[in-house]
Amino acid sequence: MKAHDGLYIDGAWRPAEGHDVIEVVNPADEQAIGQVPAGTAADVDAAVRAARAALPAWAATAPAERAARLAALRDVLVARKDEIAETVTAELGAPLAFSQTVHAGVPIAVAGSYAELAAAHAFEEKVGNSTVYQEPVGVVGAITPWNYPLHQIVAKVAPALAAGCTVVLKPAENTPLTAQLFAEAIHEAGVPAGVFNLVTGLGPVAGQALAEHPGVDLVSFTGSTAVGKRIGAAAGAAVKRVALELGGKSANVILPSADLAKAVAVGVANVMSNSGQTCSAWTRMLVHSDQYDEAVELAAAAAAKYGDRIGPVVSARQQARVRGYIEKGVAEGARLIAGGPEAPREKGYFISPTVFADVTPEMTIAQEEIFGPVLTILRYEDEEEALRIANGTVYGLAGAVWAADEGEAVAFARRMDTGQVDINGGRFNPLAPFGGYKQSGVGRELGAHGLAEYLQTKSLQF
Ligand code: NAD
Repeated sequence: MKAHDGLYIDGAWRPAEGHDVIEVVNPADEQAIGQVPAGTAADVDAAVRAARAALPAWAATAPAERAARLAALRDVLVARKDEIAETVTAELGAPLAFSQTVHAGVPIAVAGSYAELAAAHAFEEKVGNSTVYQEPVGVVGAITPWNYPLHQIVAKVAPALAAGCTVVLKPAENTPLTAQLFAEAIHEAGVPAGVFNLVTGLGPVAGQALAEHPGVDLVSFTGSTAVGKRIGAAAGAAVKRVALELGGKSANVILPSADLAKAVAVGVANVMSNSGQTCSAWTRMLVHSDQYDEAVELAAAAAAKYGDRIGPVVSARQQARVRGYIEKGVAEGARLIAGGPEAPREKGYFISPTVFADVTPEMTIAQEEIFGPVLTILRYEDEEEALRIANGTVYGLAGAVWAADEGEAVAFARRMDTGQVDINGGRFNPLAPFGGYKQSGVGRELGAHGLAEYLQTKSLQF
């Protein structure tokens, strides 16, 4: 797609107040592929005003009409699926097949799910002598990261529009072209002017201005825990609603009765997909000591098969960060059994699929989110120790449990301090609530729980 040189505000592309731009780079070959405006606080203010002006009419629109717009949005995303996949591949670096199935496919499913939910949701109910109305929270400031660039936008904008809220989006610096494509899709779907607005720009400038704008009623943020804490603090000081989807360091717990080969194969694939840039990736594999050596061998072989087919990481900065963690793992005494810190190619921000064995729970690589294709394998002696290790980080976003008996896996999963667990390789469900325990976040996205984030209640007594 061709980059727009404006911001999408009040239903039209208009010039930014300043002249600064953000260069977009293809991480596979380091070539510049376009530039977008770096919006400022003045642009954010114009967008918030447009969203505020559009709010009363959109909030009063019948849910069936909002559902129709979301269905139209889904249809545009379907019609432009190939273009979406190519754009995500160009600016994120994900292999094209993965961009088609996941980066384009999942947002289509999520937009479709909110078209249905908007039509079916009971926005009012009787409770004794009261009628309780679910009303839109108001103007939403959405701030998104680059790792699933379209999914993270749709997971906020679709429920917000379904609820009757209006939105200002500040997407990640590395992937603004996908966000511009989404704004085109919103326009084509016939969403009224001002209901959705896009301001591209830098996090500490446009992002911060949006998070702190007094005209924003709810800040919905996905990104790093460090930035999330600041946004949460600012929202708290302003008594403003906030939803935070932050980092993770999820555990893949393989209980002794499990199908070890399958659990290891799926576990390695989970960490390597999207070059490890998945907040919910199961980056810590927990294996019983009796099966440890066999699991390590299986994981090393599985990782070696990937080569550089996983695609690059998003930027030179991210590549340097991931290599730093790999060096730290070696320095702290973990055993490298696949990959390593050396770049596998001269051009592009590639990292070899990397696996560490003999990782202990207190090591940096077992505690901190690396956000690259790096798997750690830890040993446990009994279930209680496995649970202590699984729960032993500040995060609690996702996880997996494998066992011969589903009931055994479920019993273990219920004791994990985490928001989402896949049992024996359970499939992705776009209606299942997604979000974190502990420092992985506040609030939930997707399905009816995601819709609830954008609603507030009013009760009338009779
Ligand atoms: P980041 O926090 O640096 O950036 C995320 C967004 O916040 C970007 O749009 C950025 O421009 C903006 N931002 C940066 N500084 C800001 C500030 N001071 N005020 C307001 N906005 C600001 O994170 P990232 O590096 O882009 O993304 C990777 C992180 O996102 C990882 O830690 C990952 O775990 C997390 N993540 C979490 C989820 C989830 O659902 N829990 C999903 C995807 C990614």
